Amino acid sequence: MQKISRIFAVVLAFSLGIGLLGLFNVQAQGDSPTQTPVPTTSPDDGDTTQEVQSEVEWTVGETTFESHYPAGFTFTTTITSSAGPLARGRVVWSHAPGTQRSRPAEIDPDTGVLTATWEATGADAVPPWVGITYYWDVTDEAGNFFNSEPGYEEYEDNSREWIRTESEDIIVVTESLPEDVGEMVVDAMEENREKYREAWGDLLPYKPRAILFGSREGWNEWQITAGNPNVVGQTSDDWGGTVQVVYSGDLEDLAYGTVPHEVAHLYQSAFTIMTPGSWFIEGNATFFEIHQQYNYEASVRELAASGNLPVLLQDTGPGVSGRNARRGYDIGYTFWKWLTDNYGLEGHRELIELLDSGMSRNQAIEQVTGLTIDEVESQWRVWLGASAVAPTLIPTPTLFIFPTVTPFGQ
Ligand SMILES: [Zn+2]
Repeated sequence: MQKISRIFAVVLAFSLGIGLLGLFNVQAQGDSPTQTPVPTTSPDDGDTTQEVQSEVEWTVGETTFESHYPAGFTFTTTITSSAGPLARGRVVWSHAPGTQRSRPAEIDPDTGVLTATWEATGADAVPPWVGITYYWDVTDEAGNFFNSEPGYEEYEDNSREWIRTESEDIIVVTESLPEDVGEMVVDAMEENREKYREAWGDLLPYKPRAILFGSREGWNEWQITAGNPNVVGQTSDDWGGTVQVVYSGDLEDLAYGTVPHEVAHLYQSAFTIMTPGSWFIEGNATFFEIHQQYNYEASVRELAASGNLPVLLQDTGPGVSGRNARRGYDIGYTFWKWLTDNYGLEGHRELIELLDSGMSRNQAIEQVTGLTIDEVESQWRVWLGASAVAPTLIPTPTLFIFPTVTPFGQ
């Protein structure tokens, strides 16, 4: 079952001169298609010294958006120009500030209706309930162009029962999960609000979304193609949110651990430059978790006490994938804990600002702390209870390469 949302809007726009940017337009819109819009602006408004060469009147009729989740969505509109038929049109949209997508419109020669459809594929699928801010961009045969006022929609999934919880910090939608999960996430985000603000210098320039699945069918559906079964979440600044699936997991950890962690990744994208897949970026996101699966600092202190704390600030440092992935996250977390214990959230903000200016990680750390990178490594180690001196990097021994059992090309 699909719900079509219709916005009836009539826009009268008068452009002075061909292609002149000074478009005067008035938009009236309401729930009722019978509402009569009253233009209140005339082309005489504003003081223009440019000679009026032509006056084009643009009229925007019924505009619709239809979600075909998970297959995509369709926009329609009717826009006419007093100067002649339309030559071309397209719809331009974004889910979060930054990335824009567009699709050309087909124009029905009889009705003048413009239709633009985005068909999702496995490569560019987006989860349900992402926001869609869009406008129409049209050009008539005389070369006049017009952009409609922005519209806002959501990529609705009406095939399942969703619970929506929205606060000033986040929009949460859940399916097949207990009713209070949305409230828990809202609570976690509220608790973290000032920490985010101080650490990053401001809040995100948009309201992030947490799209949380409790069923495998729901989770599989949005990705269209079968993904890696071990992947249970994805976060994207392209659509400004995180999508997670929890089958029988720890809801406390989802709301107070995973979501604040993933939202921190959105802050990283919005405010700075960090190397993906590093202890530095994952430790930073972990630093924003309110709920820890176990005591991360204590586990790194144990590692330090056993004499196995690896080198942090040389080369790539501890890895965050494979068998020791979790260890890399924990060690990274202790770096950010050490930094903010000593230099405050202000030190965090200074560091991300230096990184954003293009400075290298170690240079930025030296500038914020006023220490050499060796002194930072040493102080962080001693704080964790390790020896002051990091172990020397051992040259990688030559490995015997065994022939693979799968013939090449098979
Ligand atoms: Zn992460």
